[in-house]
Amino acid sequence: MVEDMTTPLLSDSEAPADALPVCLTSPTVAILGSGDFSRSLALRLVASGVRVVVGSRCVNRIPSGLFPDAVELRNQEGAVSQAVCLVFMAVFPEHYCSLLGLQSALAGKVLVDVSNGAEMNIHGPSNAERLAELFPDSLVVKGFNTVSTWELQTGAHDGSRQVMICSNSTEGKKKVVQLARQMGFHPVDMGGLSAAREIEVAPLRLFPSWSGPVVVTFLLFLFFYGYGFLRGILLPFLAQGGHNAFYRLALDLVNESLPAVALVTLALVYFPGLFAAWLQLWRGTKYQRFPSWLDNWLQRRKQLGLLSFLCAALHGVYSLCLPLRRITLHRLVNTAYRQVKAGTEEPWDELGVWRSDLYLSCGVLGLGVLSLLAITSLPTVGNTLNWREFTFVQSGLGYIALTLSIMHTLFFGWDFAFHIEAYPFYMPPSYLLAVVVPCIVLVCRCFL
Ligand code: NAP
Repeated sequence: MVEDMTTPLLSDSEAPADALPVCLTSPTVAILGSGDFSRSLALRLVASGVRVVVGSRCVNRIPSGLFPDAVELRNQEGAVSQAVCLVFMAVFPEHYCSLLGLQSALAGKVLVDVSNGAEMNIHGPSNAERLAELFPDSLVVKGFNTVSTWELQTGAHDGSRQVMICSNSTEGKKKVVQLARQMGFHPVDMGGLSAAREIEVAPLRLFPSWSGPVVVTFLLFLFFYGYGFLRGILLPFLAQGGHNAFYRLALDLVNESLPAVALVTLALVYFPGLFAAWLQLWRGTKYQRFPSWLDNWLQRRKQLGLLSFLCAALHGVYSLCLPLRRITLHRLVNTAYRQVKAGTEEPWDELGVWRSDLYLSCGVLGLGVLSLLAITSLPTVGNTLNWREFTFVQSGLGYIALTLSIMHTLFFGWDFAFHIEAYPFYMPPSYLLAVVVPCIVLVCRCFL
């Protein structure tokens, strides 16, 4: 019985080829390079209870106090020999060749490649794959490059917690995953070393999921702003021999364009879902991939929704500022003067009052529901909802927000759209253009 307990479950021949001795207590970790990344990493490792030895080409050049006292500073060979199994390569990839002399010392050890890509479109192998070619007897793991020195220093509470990791060695990956967890990070297994290319360019990307929605929103704004400028300012100026309404450019026109953009963008959130549903009905199956443009569109709905919320919120703030304008004061005094002059005692406009109350109420309610959608799109809030609750908020309440926004626009327009004066130069008012796509979305939704 005692013999059974001492016999390993796996015989040596059954153990995986890349298996390394399992380090039970926190094993010594080596870091090659004494630059910015090395310092922050050493700080974090020491704080996580790991023994760290830093390997430098010239230890004497490192000023005292640069690394925590607990960190041992050695030459590169000394540091590698101290490392039980993990060695971080905190040097730039162009200097990997200068470490070739350490090949035999690094054999069998896990080399963590923390380097970033130099540019977005890399041709040929990634830094990690090149490192694996240079050190064929070591187990190369890509990781930690998406973590900045600031995140390493401030701890996992403030910075991003995700650490993307990939390797062809399961054993090497396991060790790095263990260490990342010990440091308070969330390791994300990205698969084999071929994924390194993707991981290396990840820090170079600039809001990859936002660029499309931002461009669409900006183009919509340009369209409505330009259209409003032509219809309400430039053409009347040219036609009426110098009637100057250019003062409207700064506030009026912006506040006219923002709700139109908000409405169309909100409709664009729900349009691809309807299109996808029609496509599935037409194909007679849901087991076929959507075209990639539709896939992309579906994945950008959250960003479009948030941009719609931003435009609607800005429209709300702009509208609150309207009474503060000098032109409003001027108009108010002018109207009062004309009424006094005409002897009008109580100019009560029942319909006008109804109209303004209705469109304001629908607008405020629409913005309120839209805020709920925006809040629940935050991962911390969204994660507390189950799938049914999330669908109810994002789909059910989303359509309610869209309906309220359409009603806000229609009450604002009232019956003016039926008057010929609303079409100067044969151009309809922009709010009428803005409701076209949202109305199509609502009608299609009803059909579905
Ligand atoms: P760094 O401050 O310039 O440090 C690089 C270190 O490499 C030097 O201090 C040097 O240390 C060492 N080195 C070894 N061989 C070398 C050689 N032949 N020529 C020059 N230096 C050599 O750079 P770093 O910011 O720490 O970046 C190091 C790696 O981390 C890079 O691959 C980078 O992409 C990656 N990274 C950095 C950050 C960041 O925020 N800084 C974030 C993610 C990833 P010794 O003189 O002591 O040998």
